[in-house]
Amino acid sequence: MIVVLLGAPGAGKGTQAKRMGSAMGVKHFSTGDLLRQAVESGTELGVRAAEYMESGTLVPDDIMLALAGELLDRKGPGVGVILDGFPRTLPQAKGLDQLLEDRGETIGLVILLDIEEDDAVERLSSRVSCPECGSVHNLATDLPMTTGLCDACGGTLVRRSDDIPEKIEHRFEQYQSETHPTIEYYRSQGRLDTVDAGRPIHEVQKAIEEILHRKSGPQVAG
Ligand code: AMP
Repeated sequence: MIVVLLGAPGAGKGTQAKRMGSAMGVKHFSTGDLLRQAVESGTELGVRAAEYMESGTLVPDDIMLALAGELLDRKGPGVGVILDGFPRTLPQAKGLDQLLEDRGETIGLVILLDIEEDDAVERLSSRVSCPECGSVHNLATDLPMTTGLCDACGGTLVRRSDDIPEKIEHRFEQYQSETHPTIEYYRSQGRLDTVDAGRPIHEVQKAIEEILHRKSGPQVAG
């Protein structure tokens, strides 16, 4: 099944996508993580994306749709995937539908992780992440076992350079202006399921699992 996870910065998309991926036995692609890796390794994609990401601005749709096309080809036909952080604009959402139609596939589930902006900003200001594997911890609610080190791979946890107040504010402006129409696109077509993401991680996970079971039965892999 192809699952799209939508939500504001700090809603917990990465955390829940990882958990869903393990539970469903499918890969999870975070466009933010892929872009950060591309910037780090200095690829052509990274060079093009860097200036936008540094200011917390969305990377242009043509770049993102090319990346999405590559991801869909990489995963192979009929293979399930969780898309975390894509699409984020209306042209991306329509473009994704077209990319899937061209490949004889379709989105199985669109889940919005819904959170109040104040709660999300609070989470972002205590968030640390691992540049090696993308794992995320929260210094207020989800401390790593060893201070400063990633539980998953032992990498050094860092604050993301776009998790500072003025960039957070800009990212929320972009969420309002670009991603809200995307959400409405799916909602108006009856394709959207919404989860209250202001709750603790395991409660959000449980709510997502209930949706998955309802939509596809207990067997959701593939
Ligand atoms: P994230 O890790 O999901 O918060 O994404 C970090 C940054 O990557 C964003 O602020 C954007 O600059 C860029 N980015 C990630 N996904 C997208 C997307 N679907 N469209 C445009 N830019 C994106």
